[in-house]
Amino acid sequence: MSLHHELAAYAGYARDLRAFLREPATAARGRELIRQRLSDRDRLFLNLLRREVYDNPVSPYLPLLQHARCEYGDLDSMVGAHGVEGALQRLCSAGVYLSHEEFKGQQPVVRGGRTFPCRPSGFNSVDHTRGLQASTSGSRGPATTTMIRLEHVAFNSFCHAMVFSAHRLQGWATIVWMPILPSGAGITHLLQLCKMRAAPERWFTPVTASNVKLALSKRLATMYVVHAGRLFGSRIPSPEYVSGEQTIIVAECLRDVLRRSPGCVVACSPSAAVRVCQVSRSAGINLHRVTFAAGGEPLTPAKMAEIRSAGADAINIYAFTEAGIVGFGCAGEKQACDDIHLQQDSLTIIQRERSTSFGGGVVNSFLFTSLLERPSRMLLNVESGDYGVLETRQCGCELGDVGLTQHLHTIRSFDKLTGEGMTFVGTDLVRIIEEVLPKRFGGASTDYQMAEMEEGGRARLDVVVSPEVGTVDEEEVVRVILAELSRGGDTNRMMAEVWRQARVLRVKREKPRLTDAGKLLPLHITRNPPER
Ligand SMILES: [Zn+2]
Repeated sequence: MSLHHELAAYAGYARDLRAFLREPATAARGRELIRQRLSDRDRLFLNLLRREVYDNPVSPYLPLLQHARCEYGDLDSMVGAHGVEGALQRLCSAGVYLSHEEFKGQQPVVRGGRTFPCRPSGFNSVDHTRGLQASTSGSRGPATTTMIRLEHVAFNSFCHAMVFSAHRLQGWATIVWMPILPSGAGITHLLQLCKMRAAPERWFTPVTASNVKLALSKRLATMYVVHAGRLFGSRIPSPEYVSGEQTIIVAECLRDVLRRSPGCVVACSPSAAVRVCQVSRSAGINLHRVTFAAGGEPLTPAKMAEIRSAGADAINIYAFTEAGIVGFGCAGEKQACDDIHLQQDSLTIIQRERSTSFGGGVVNSFLFTSLLERPSRMLLNVESGDYGVLETRQCGCELGDVGLTQHLHTIRSFDKLTGEGMTFVGTDLVRIIEEVLPKRFGGASTDYQMAEMEEGGRARLDVVVSPEVGTVDEEEVVRVILAELSRGGDTNRMMAEVWRQARVLRVKREKPRLTDAGKLLPLHITRNPPER
């Protein structure tokens, strides 16, 4: 899109904000909306499939459905007989699904010896209404653009209001500590909180427009939303830059807010939550009555233990750009600290057994299907690269009472590395490990490895360099990796900057580690982080 068109779109978006902010998002209305959608789920699924897939000649799913000989009428009968999940399981067995590699365009879609076309633009909703553009990192080539639609943000506000009520956080102050555009996380949280009449006290961002050399349109877009929101009466704070070394600013802000408020909810990544907990502990700031709404990376037992030791609590918010919010942390009897209620009204998940590319072994991966009208990206049995436990049970919390009885927990990635809420896909990292580093510093591809680590609850990536490589400038190794990761657009630069700030990468001089099966893999992904 040209700058002129982008700006015109943002101006339109700013106008839509007035309508968006008018009706406050309450928990009672949230419960009503969810109940209604759950009772109407089969019809929502069938209508969506008809509009976005069967009536959309460029849908990548259409040839797969034709190959599986599943006309719309067949699907209708299947849903009637076996329900939405039953129908999706049958479609998956018949080859109607996309692996993570196929969805990301890293592997061709081949079924029964035939190759099927799969263009990224085919996933866009047939309805091109305006929205804010957010991006996910591109694996070689341009980043994927996803639209943030105000109608979806509005719906999520009602869900958030329900979650605040379930966790008894109503009336608490809020703080957002998330990046500016092109990441959609900061701006969507900000808007949701405004609609809940819980506008954040402050908005901290780990990156600035200048340190990631952000495109002008993205800089203006953030300003547009902030100023337009203010015009319509919402107390929207401007983003304030807080670098990795300045976490004390957030801790001090929390201390001040807690003096005048019954409690504070902080929206940030689990790693950022751990950092502020560590800094607060050393500064003698008690975080009792602080709850982190933590998303963007796994909320592991080690991270939860660090958060609890500072007196705080955390709710897992599981989301990714293409699907939006997948689920919110349970407030009842949890099976694990990252236990969430699947938003069964807007998404559905089935599981597929598959072997993993980098970690070795077999996992039960999640396949996602959209149920929301006009999804940002239409997903039909699409793998996200995550796996975990999916189960149905009663937990006794408000979210379960409304009918959201499916839980997900122990959620991990099998093909990407995550730190500080930023995710880089495995293939980009493998290229750096196997090609860039040996060329620059000597040795063979097997002399290098990236290993996921958790230390004091903080996500770290060890860049393992075999002693056989000889003397290397360790800081230069980190610089080279970050420079490589920054390539490919705004989003990659922003993510690499967050990793630089938070010192996620660290060189370790030792022999690359082997898997349990004795294999040497370029990426050593922790399958089961140690319990504490
Ligand atoms: Zn629950």
